[in-house]
Formats: sequence, C-alpha cells, structure tokens
Amino acid sequence: MKLVIGIDIGGTNLRFGSVTQGGTLYHFEKKYSAALLGEHAVDNLSREILEYMERYQLAGRVLAVAVGVPSMVSKDKSFVYSTPNLKGLENIDLGHMLKEKTGLPVFVDRDVNYLLLNDIKKYGLDTKKKNTILGMYLGTGFGNAIYINGQIYAGKNGAAGELGHIPFWKLDEVCACGNIGCAEKRCSGLYLQTLRDKYFKDTDISEIFTKHRDTPVIQEYVDMLAIPISTEITILDPDYVIMGGGVMIMKDFPMTRLTEQIKRRTRHPYPSQNLEFVFPEHTHAGGVIGGAYAVFAEMQEEKN
Ligand SMILES: [Zn+2]
Repeated sequence: MKLVIGIDIGGTNLRFGSVTQGGTLYHFEKKYSAALLGEHAVDNLSREILEYMERYQLAGRVLAVAVGVPSMVSKDKSFVYSTPNLKGLENIDLGHMLKEKTGLPVFVDRDVNYLLLNDIKKYGLDTKKKNTILGMYLGTGFGNAIYINGQIYAGKNGAAGELGHIPFWKLDEVCACGNIGCAEKRCSGLYLQTLRDKYFKDTDISEIFTKHRDTPVIQEYVDMLAIPISTEITILDPDYVIMGGGVMIMKDFPMTRLTEQIKRRTRHPYPSQNLEFVFPEHTHAGGVIGGAYAVFAEMQEEKN
C-alpha cells in the first residue's frame, strides 16, 4: 500500500503522519517546531523525514511528501515566500531542496489549503457537484483558503486567499507581512491576546469568552471578524463556509453572534439569506491528511 507522508509545520508544532489514498492515517507524531526555526531549518527537516521513514520502515512505500506551511507558496508548490513565524523557512525553494535531500517528490503548500481539503472530504461537501467552498481558520493569524471548480484556487502566483491581509480603513499598524493596516492586526488570536493583556489581565486566555463574551471589547472583536469574512462571501457567493481554527473552537466562543454579524454584513437577499456554515471539530491531523489528499490528486493529474 503506497503512502504519502504529510507534514504540517506550524509556529509551535510540527506534525507528521503517513496517509493512504483513502485517507487512513498511520504513525502520527507531534513535536515542537522550535528546532526548525533557525538557520539549519531545511537540514533539520530533511533529517526528521529520513528518521521518521527509518522508524516505521517506510522505504519503498512512500509516493511523495506533502509539506504544509503557514505562508505563501509559489504556484508550482515549491518556493516559500514570506513566513513571519518561521524565519528559517522563509524565501527558500523548500520543495526542491527537500527533494534533493530525501530523494522523494515533495509538494509544499499553504497549510490552510490542506486544512480545507481535509474538511471538504471529512464533511462530504463536494461529493457530487463542484461547489464553491471557503475556509476561514482563525488561529494565531487569520487563515483563509478558497475551493472553486473542484480545486483549491491558487491565483496567478499562488497568493490567492490572503484574506487576513486585506486593508482595514484608518488602521495604520504595521503587519507581520510588512503592509500597513491588515485585517489580521484585528482579526487574529494574537489580537485576542492583546485584548486580554490590556483589559482582562486576571483572566486566562482560555476563559476569555466564558467570562467576558458580553463585554463591548469582546463584542467588537467578534464584529470585526465578520468584516473580512462577509467581504469574501459577498464576492464569491459560496455553497459552504467552513468556520474553524483554534480561536473559533475555544470554549464559549460567541459563534451565534459572529454568524449573525456575517449575515447582516453580506449582500441581501443572497448570499446572506441561505448561507451554510460548517463548524469542523478540532483535529491535530487535519493538515497532515489534507496534504496527502492534495498530493494524491496532484499525482493523479500528472499521470493523466
Ligand atoms: Zn498583512
């Protein structure tokens, strides 16, 4: 049985797994990604891959490697552009470098693209017709992915779906991406942390919605989230909108308020009136499995 090794690289964790074409996951591992942040990031990562294969005796069974990164990736799925949270992997041709070191085909993509592909399969969202599906993943930053006509929409450069980096009016703070006033300066887990530090010092971040969801500060936070989300919905009139990520699954997150705000700010009567939201449950392996789906599909296409 042939496998794809899926690797999900986040600012905090690195996740590994071996996935069959049917989506069955084996040998899942999670470790801190700190060792990858430095200047030897590519060497470390290729060593991790080879050791992982050794550990589970995978030689000869691996078709390819899928690497999800929290950054913008070239359309040929190799070059990693600006990566504020993983400096060791920034502005390098990661796919080709790893291919050289491991001897395996390597595909690199935005982590949110992999998350979206996993959610589409898991919730059976596109089994018969070619739906338009949007992924909104609110974590440390604001992740977004777009699925149209049976595939992830990449745009001219691979840069489509950077919804967290649309400009907010009259916001002049510099974003990690280098631009000024990006939505992500307000719509992110990082900004939620800033609000906690400023207004709710005695509350642990995990309790912030439980204790303070009805305060004007948190209500405004939630209402601001609706702005980029409504914007993309109004442009694309999607069949489904996936609402996920670490912040949206926090205890007592005001999801009803958020979806009401989104409907209010989206074009009437449609798409506002029959919006269909999907709320994925939390998973550690979504990016790993989604990466494998992407690579199996890619290799099938290359064969045809
Ligand atoms: Zn930005």
